[in-house]
Amino acid sequence: QNDDNNDSGNGKEKAAPSKVKKGTVLRIIKFSMPDWPLIATGFVFLTISATGEIFIPFYTGRVVDGIVIDKSQTEFTHAIVIMALISAGSALAAGIRGLCLFIAVRKINIRIRNTLFTAILRQEIGFFDKVQTGDITSRLTSDTTTMSDALALNVNIFLRNFIKAGGVVFFMMKLSWQLTIVTLIGLPLIIAEKVQNSLAEANNVAEEACSTMRTVRSFANEMGEVQRYADKLAETFKLNMKQAFMYSGYTICSMWFELGLTVAVLYYGGHLVISGHLTGGTLISFILYQIQLGDCLNAAGASEKVFEYIDRVPAIHDQGSKDQEPALHHQGDQRQQGKQSCDQSSPACVQVQGHIEFQDVCFTYPSRPDVQVLKNLSFSVCPGEVIALVGCSGGGKTSCVNLLEHFYEPDSGQVLLDGRPIHTYDHRFLHKQISLVGQEPVLYARTIEENIRYGLADHEWTMSSVQEAAEMANAHKFISELKDGYNTQAGEKGVQMSALLRKPRVLLLDEATSALDAESEFLVQQALYRNMAGRTVIVIAHRLSTVERADKIIVIDKGQVMEQGSHLELLQAKGMYANLVKRQLLLTDSSWSEE
Ligand code: ADP
Ligand code: MG
Repeated sequence: QNDDNNDSGNGKEKAAPSKVKKGTVLRIIKFSMPDWPLIATGFVFLTISATGEIFIPFYTGRVVDGIVIDKSQTEFTHAIVIMALISAGSALAAGIRGLCLFIAVRKINIRIRNTLFTAILRQEIGFFDKVQTGDITSRLTSDTTTMSDALALNVNIFLRNFIKAGGVVFFMMKLSWQLTIVTLIGLPLIIAEKVQNSLAEANNVAEEACSTMRTVRSFANEMGEVQRYADKLAETFKLNMKQAFMYSGYTICSMWFELGLTVAVLYYGGHLVISGHLTGGTLISFILYQIQLGDCLNAAGASEKVFEYIDRVPAIHDQGSKDQEPALHHQGDQRQQGKQSCDQSSPACVQVQGHIEFQDVCFTYPSRPDVQVLKNLSFSVCPGEVIALVGCSGGGKTSCVNLLEHFYEPDSGQVLLDGRPIHTYDHRFLHKQISLVGQEPVLYARTIEENIRYGLADHEWTMSSVQEAAEMANAHKFISELKDGYNTQAGEKGVQMSALLRKPRVLLLDEATSALDAESEFLVQQALYRNMAGRTVIVIAHRLSTVERADKIIVIDKGQVMEQGSHLELLQAKGMYANLVKRQLLLTDSSWSEE
């Protein structure tokens, strides 16, 4: 009979959803390591309080026997005093255990959050195209908390019950080996039921989480589709109903086995008491132990959940570590020495020349695998040149910039900086060399000053260099006139100016000034060109009049280079550029005439 039950129990366990990787357990331990004295103290007190609890049923029996059999005041008082002391000690130890573990969990939680945040910041930009921001923030806030809290709670329960189960079985043997045998025969039945029960519960949690997740996602994606949302909820409810019935079935079975066993022990134990082989108090102790044992077995369920939550860590963490390693090692041989001092960081230490080359680059956004955005695109920019990328919107200009910034990897072909593939550069080094003033405004809740020096270490900026950068962008006058000057809370323009403060070798201006009116755009561009002398500049501009002075103009359409040359050359060629210019002149003329 025993074997049968064990087999069925194991069979169920194989089908269980626990896919625990050894690495993840190690990772959790690593997160906890710095707090080991606290955790160890917690476990010591956990052991003390659990041991104390084990003695309670034993002394309960002694008290009963003291009353019923001996009818002696001293025996009775003796047992009661011991019981009271043990109870108080046990409770105190439990309190200290809780305090230690709670603090440890909070600290571990902070560590996990920091790691997670670092991991998220390390992702390639393609990751953010695919993942919803809400998803990331919920991972950062609630998921990590849920995970570490549940983990601590369950480890706590598991250990406590493990210790107690050991002690309980020991006392049971001590009290009556006959009754222990009866219990042990019934035990596999209980264990099998408990395990199944907890598995059902674990599945329940997992499935519910999944279906809720889908609901939440669809809600975020398709705001306003109320019916769809309601359908999803109904679906979830159906699932819940099925699980509710399953769950209640399991509950009936496990309760029946547990209580049935108690009745069997009472029946047999009663006979032993009547025939004088056992005292009444001992039987009471034994029954109490048996009930405790049943409770301890819930630990099986608890451990199942520990693994479930541990499983959640790697999904986040693995993605994070993906990009991290190559970055440091692939730094070029000649640049190796320079780079080391560079990281400590005078910004002007080692610099690239600023020679840029696109070689037969094909590119598809990972989030849109069916559309090839760049098709065998090739062009090159010499150090110190100012080149302009022009063309209709959607042609692929920003995508070129994204590749240069190594936000994405091309499908084929190469993007070279000074003849070296862009992906072989250290990420931090690369972004010191190449600065982007982007198309989309980035909002940071900081002051203008903080925005301008965004990402720079303290020794890399001074107030005067901040002002200088603002002057370069013709913004100093404007900022000075604000009530709080550089301390004004403001967003997008500031972070863009930090690109200038960094004095990069390569400056990318992706429609940076197109939000300004024509006159301001002209002024800012003038200022930029003046200050960017000697740097490689790639400017993407909507108003063609602002790029006439570029050394070379490259027309990009449908992911391909259509033509390139100077403003005059392209006008004479009467190709796409000439057409674009003509169209803009017409538009400008008509807007003039309208006014
Ligand atoms: P341009 O800057 O010349 O206006 P883009 O390089 O921004 O053009 O866009 C080229 C094509 O790539 C467009 O079809 C655009 O829809 C697509 N695209 C741009 N960014 C993404 C992205 N993050 N994910 C998927 N597709 C994108
Ligand atoms: Mg663009």
